[in-house]
Parts: sequence; C-alpha cells; structure tokens
Amino acid sequence: MELSELLEFVRAEDERLRERHPSADGDRAVLARTVKLSEELGEFCNEVLSHSSLQRESKLESFDKRDVRGEFADVVITALLLAESMDIDTETALDEKVEAIEARYD
Ligand SMILES: [Mg+2]
Repeated sequence: MELSELLEFVRAEDERLRERHPSADGDRAVLARTVKLSEELGEFCNEVLSHSSLQRESKLESFDKRDVRGEFADVVITALLLAESMDIDTETALDEKVEAIEARYD
C-alpha cells in the first residue's frame, strides 16, 4: 500500500467517525483519539510480549503472528487519525522527521 492510499483511507475513516460520533469533534476528538492511541499501543505491546514468549502460558496458547501485524496497523492508523484531528500534515511531518534522522548520520 502506498502512503497516499493510506492517507486517503484515513481521511475517509475520519469522515465516517465524525458522522458516527458528531459530539466528538475538535478538542474532544483529539482527546478521544489520544486515549484510543494509548489503548491500541497497549494492545500492540501485549502482542509484542507474546511474540517474545514473555506472556503467561494461557496467553501464548492463543498467540497468532497475524495479531501482531493487526495491532501494529491499529497503532499506525490511530496515530494518523489523531494527526488528522490536529490538522497535522502527515506527509510534511514524516518528510521533516526523516530528514532530521538522516541528518544525524551526516
Ligand atoms: Mg487493536
């Protein structure tokens, strides 16, 4: 998937969520999506622990590598939805950060 396709999906999902939760706009959307990002990060961390066999046996029995990918994707999509709520230009933000990281090695 290209970044442009992902961002198109995020904008469409943002519209759908705004229609579904009309009272969660502006700062409420930013807060809700920040909390949601924390929730998704927790779910991803849970899968990382399972991936590394650091969970209790009962959790390891149901571990599926697809769950790690799914939770990773949830984190990325939720972060992009939060950026959309904050009018952050994702492509510009990523360009600037990649450039800054690359500059560390110059
Ligand atoms: Mg999730």
